[in-house]
Amino acid sequence: MNAREYDMVIAGAGPAGATAAIKLARAGKRVALVDRAGFPRAATGAGWLNIKARPMLEELRAPLDDVLAHPFQQVTFHNAELTKSSSPKLKDSLGFLVDRTQFDNALVDAATQAGAALCAGHEISAIEPLEDRVVVHREAAEPVAGRFLLLAAGRGTLWLDRLKFSRSPASRPVWLGTAFSGDGAAEAGNVGVVLGLDREGSFALLVRSPAGCGVTLNWSGDKPQVRPMFVQLCRKLFEKQLFPVDLSAPAASAEITFSPASFALEMDTHVSKNALVAGDAGGFVAALSHEGLYPAMWSARIAADVLLEASAAPRPQDVLMTYETRWRAEMATYLSPPNTDMHYLLPMIFSNPAMADRMALAFFAGENL
Ligand SMILES: Cc1cc2nc3c(=O)[nH]c(=O)nc-3n(C[C@H](O)[C@H](O)[C@H](O)COP(=O)(O)OP(=O)(O)OC[C@H]3O[C@@H](n4cnc5c(N)ncnc54)[C@H](O)[C@@H]3O)c2cc1C
Repeated sequence: MNAREYDMVIAGAGPAGATAAIKLARAGKRVALVDRAGFPRAATGAGWLNIKARPMLEELRAPLDDVLAHPFQQVTFHNAELTKSSSPKLKDSLGFLVDRTQFDNALVDAATQAGAALCAGHEISAIEPLEDRVVVHREAAEPVAGRFLLLAAGRGTLWLDRLKFSRSPASRPVWLGTAFSGDGAAEAGNVGVVLGLDREGSFALLVRSPAGCGVTLNWSGDKPQVRPMFVQLCRKLFEKQLFPVDLSAPAASAEITFSPASFALEMDTHVSKNALVAGDAGGFVAALSHEGLYPAMWSARIAADVLLEASAAPRPQDVLMTYETRWRAEMATYLSPPNTDMHYLLPMIFSNPAMADRMALAFFAGENL
């Protein structure tokens, strides 16, 4: 079957892929945005988006006013035993509570409005890197080919290894599970964080938003421990009236996935033949908060700039190679774990209000602890 030809093929229409598609299509490139899902599609519940994403969304001219209608300023930290809490006093909003369905679909809409072709509803079955282009084969649909590929197929994607984006094994796996209910919605919205579940960096994020309420557990350590810990935490949060809904039942059946927190820093390269990788697929997830939306968009924006330059250069692969140094210069500090012993820091967050303020800025804004 003959491939449809584009300048750029983007594998994955999540926040990373859609961001790059908007930028590349606005620059006049013929862009194919390929995803297995049909659109609009449903995504998991509520999440939070860093306030720093706002200028990026403005630059992309994405029509996201409705999506960004719920800024949050109120944050509460809890200790692992749920016996102590601390509420930082913050001058400004730290981010937005976002309905992921609305957010993800709004970005894809903006990409198609910018001129990207959405090739949706078919699984990518093979990616063939050739000397002068990359061909993306799809199940039960014609292939699409582009001069360059951006891999943005999310966490755990098979194509990372297959396209030889080399990496070292994760030093310490991080697991993630989420439980959500449409009940317990809160108009003003707020965010809680249960810190130090393993006396170190494991934590749970508690979100109440106009879409409902959810708990997400992020656990560094053994996978078998995740589910019992998650169920027990959800039950305890409800019993202690720290959360309006008992999410222990959804927690018991939650899918437990690998989290690529700060994995970008462990990868040897994000450049392959005629291809770059961005978003979760490239491990662009902050180490402290496991925040991925803003880093996904940020890495995709840098990748799109590099792809634009490469497309005009006599030796494009040389330009693609600059991606590694460019994202590291901009993003490495943001993605890195805090240079602090969490074991000693955690008690101070509940005894020293200034430390709680600093923790909030580190967790939600990526500032230095
Ligand atoms: C439960 C959960 C809650 C989260 N909450 C937050 C939060 O509140 N705030 C935050 O900042 N981050 C959060 N994150 C992280 C955030 O969701 C990710 O970092 C972000 O979605 C990454 O965007 P992406 O575009 O790189 O990948 P994705 O959003 O995963 O998009 C990848 C796309 O590739 C497509 N794809 C994959 N493989 C194929 C294939 N073979 N063929 C065709 N298509 C394919 C998928 O369908 C998908 O659309 C959360 C993550 C999870 C799992």
